[in-house]
This record gives sequence, C-alpha cells and structure tokens, in this order.
Amino acid sequence: MQVQSRKEYLHDYYVKNKAKIRIRNDIWYTKNKEQSVQTTKERRLRNKLKAIEYLGGVCKHCQQEYHHSVYEFHHVVPEEKEFKISILLQHSFESLKQELDKCILLCGNCHNYHHYKEANPDE
Ligand SMILES: [Zn+2]
Ligand SMILES: [Zn+2]
Repeated sequence: MQVQSRKEYLHDYYVKNKAKIRIRNDIWYTKNKEQSVQTTKERRLRNKLKAIEYLGGVCKHCQQEYHHSVYEFHHVVPEEKEFKISILLQHSFESLKQELDKCILLCGNCHNYHHYKEANPDE
C-alpha cells in the first residue's frame, strides 16, 4: 500500500469532497452574512433610539414626538460636521455621542423645511 503524504491526503480529500466542502462553506457564509446584516440592523436601531433620547426625544423645532424613522440629525454648525450620523449609527454609541453633541433632533418635515429656507431665504 502506498503511503500518502499529508499533503496528498488533504488534496485527495479535497478533490473527493469538493462539492460537500463548497456547500458547507456556502451555508456557513450565508448564515454568517444574515447574522451580520441582522446585527448591524439591530445596532443601528439601538443607537438611533439612544441618540433620539440623548437629544431630548422631540423635534427641536415643532416639539412633537414621532416614530424613530421620522427623526433626522441636523448639524447646527455645518463646518463642525466631521461624520455623517447615519454612518456612525453602526459604530459604538460613544463615538456617535461626540458627533451628536453638534446636532439637534429634527423631524423630517422641519429638517427639510430648514434646509430649503437656508437655500431659498427670500421665498
Ligand atoms: Zn418638527
Ligand atoms: Zn440638517
């Protein structure tokens, strides 16, 4: 009987089980991808809810309370803006907080209106 080197053995194993290995990897990858998409989604929502609470929980302009999807973060001094809040939502709340300190909480309506007025002051 021929003695196989470990390398040959592994190669043989790979060739014989190629399909199986590929499927196993695919399953692992898909599972992992779903998992990480889910985790990112959850973290973003958790951070957004915390951020809303941190900035007072109501729109700074109309003083109304809304569903979290309605809120936007407005940089009071645009020049101080370092990061987009939407990007920071997937990071730690600590890093998010530093940027939130330069923001106010606005509802989508007030935010749009504010920037429209900024661009069209005479209208
Ligand atoms: Zn508002
Ligand atoms: Zn804004």
